[in-house]
Amino acid sequence: MDISKTIEKLRADLRVHNHNYYILDAPTISDFEFDMKLKELQKLEAENPELFDSNSPTQRVGGGITKNFETVVHDYRMYSLDNSYSQEDLRDWEARIHKMVDGNVAYTCELKYDGASMSLTYENGQLLRAVTRGDGVQGDDVTTNIRTIKSIPLKLKGDFPERFDIRGEIILPIEGFNQINKERLAQGEEPYRNPRNTASGSLKLQDSSEVAKRPLECLLYGVTGNNLGIESQYDSLSKAREWGFKVPKVAKLCQSMDEVFEFIDHWDTHRHELPYEIDGVVIKVNSLNQQEELGYTAKAPRWAMAYKFKAEQVSTKLNSITYQVGRTGVITPVANLEPVALAGTVVKRASLHNADQIAKLDIRVNDTVFVEKGGEIIPKVIGVDMVKRPLDSVETRYITHCPECGTELIRPEGEAKHYCPNEASCPPQVVGRIQHFISRKAMDIEGLGGETVALLVKEGLISNYSDLYELTEAQVIPLERMAEKSAQNLIAGIELSKSISFERVLYALGIRYVGETVAKKLARHYKSIDALSGANFIDLTSVDDIGERIAASVVEFFSLPDNIELINRLKLFGLQMAVNEEDVQLQSEILKGQTIVVSGVFESITRNDLKKLIEDNGGKVGSSISSKTSYLVAGANMGPSKRQKAEKLGIPIRSEEEFLLIIK
Ligand code: AMP
Ligand code: ZN
Repeated sequence: MDISKTIEKLRADLRVHNHNYYILDAPTISDFEFDMKLKELQKLEAENPELFDSNSPTQRVGGGITKNFETVVHDYRMYSLDNSYSQEDLRDWEARIHKMVDGNVAYTCELKYDGASMSLTYENGQLLRAVTRGDGVQGDDVTTNIRTIKSIPLKLKGDFPERFDIRGEIILPIEGFNQINKERLAQGEEPYRNPRNTASGSLKLQDSSEVAKRPLECLLYGVTGNNLGIESQYDSLSKAREWGFKVPKVAKLCQSMDEVFEFIDHWDTHRHELPYEIDGVVIKVNSLNQQEELGYTAKAPRWAMAYKFKAEQVSTKLNSITYQVGRTGVITPVANLEPVALAGTVVKRASLHNADQIAKLDIRVNDTVFVEKGGEIIPKVIGVDMVKRPLDSVETRYITHCPECGTELIRPEGEAKHYCPNEASCPPQVVGRIQHFISRKAMDIEGLGGETVALLVKEGLISNYSDLYELTEAQVIPLERMAEKSAQNLIAGIELSKSISFERVLYALGIRYVGETVAKKLARHYKSIDALSGANFIDLTSVDDIGERIAASVVEFFSLPDNIELINRLKLFGLQMAVNEEDVQLQSEILKGQTIVVSGVFESITRNDLKKLIEDNGGKVGSSISSKTSYLVAGANMGPSKRQKAEKLGIPIRSEEEFLLIIK
């Protein structure tokens, strides 16, 4: 048989099974059979590269890398929604509608999915592109990442319009979110705070195979375009479902505001039975003709209204306050509560933020407190029911000493939190730092998990991360849950980490405020740990995007003899302490040795791309004009003070065109 036909047949089959599984929730073949078909298709596609199709089911696994997300102008603007919080608000809205349109008005009620909005464009039944909302007029092209989301059809079925946009919300179901956090905790990484931010953050990951690993979904709610042959919102939802989209079936057509209220009440109490989070209900005038008559305000359609649920609150007794010590020594007060049902879960603990918050709300043990769950997973105490305060109640005195090591706490100026300064031997700090060091985005040591680190510290085998490199198999085999094989893997994993790039080593060191992005910046700018450790405060703040807080923290880190010794040991063990020049693929070196400051708004290129261009050509981006600045690239609307400063110091000013000519 013709190979292209075989491939097409497999693709069509897999599409049907995908739809059955992810949209209808009713698979007709086993996962194994599905995988076999997918493998077969992958093999055939690899053998016949000329038959590549970016919308093939094989593209779901990702692999494409996006360095910079391209900005795209939406064909149809993505509006926001007006908000309402009460029946009264909705009655007012209804009255406004009846002033503008004649006859009966029916409403489609939908859930307000809490995620990141997305606009998908389809042409001839194929996914053409996927763009984030951005500012509503233009957003980022995230197509490569979006293709990996299994509930988004890459090819449509049925009778679809030639070209249209469809809007939806990218969400992370609660179960998937919990699973991701479980894995992160096992890796010694900070858990994500809420499903919404995790979903929207996922869209901007550079590596689409990372996106493919996250169980994201896309729930659709709006079709936009010309000549769609659709007459109502409710109708458009059914059509979208027929074309293969995931459109939740709970949407309801209501003939009156009273029916709308019923829908709202129902979902306000039942929302925790849903597999994903919602933060309200969206009510839309059903008839598209009426929608057209109503039109838009500057920011939102007049024909739609969001109804936001109130953050849920309960009151319960505060049994005790405990204090947690984090990896950087930061102290977090925690309220231990009499267990109480809230927002679909049983809450036993809540965050109290810091000493000021406790004092401000005058929170005391044995108080009855109000607890609220907003967008965050961890509920917070928002106040005290003073009427119920016991007579013998005593004011809370914030701890003065570390609950783990007894050291007196400090509170740096301008900060709300207390810290335990005993970095060297406070147990949670010691363990936390090593856990951070081995975590996936840092040294990514295979075969070593957060719990094993805690055990190694407890057994006295290591007390800082450089000790890892002296561990032997014989030392770890006797540990709980270790065997010869796992011990071998652990040691091999540690050995392997010696080839991890300098920027990740720098992140792994755990310098306060030096996260992944900052570590990258610093590594690229200074190129080696020696250069970085020699940099002073002024020098550091002159690096693009490095502020005073980060600079101070870096200076302090390298001022401590213990840290210098740690680094010297890591060097000795052979870790990467400088940028490997071969790794940095420069476009050219024409800007080598130059520090260039960028200011203003540019026409043919974004500011960030311009900065990247400087770095890719061997130059450095400076944050402010100084005598070390080689020249200034000025766009429109540059501040007059910058210009004056440049002129005063005799720093040349180049226009966008002039600069681009130099690069060419
Ligand atoms: P806001 O961000 O509060 O302005 O609310 C508007 C956003 O709600 C839209 O951009 C959508 O991303 C989101 N949304 C969630 N569910 C729906 C829905 N069923 N219909 C319309 N918009 C929705
Ligand atoms: Zn301590």
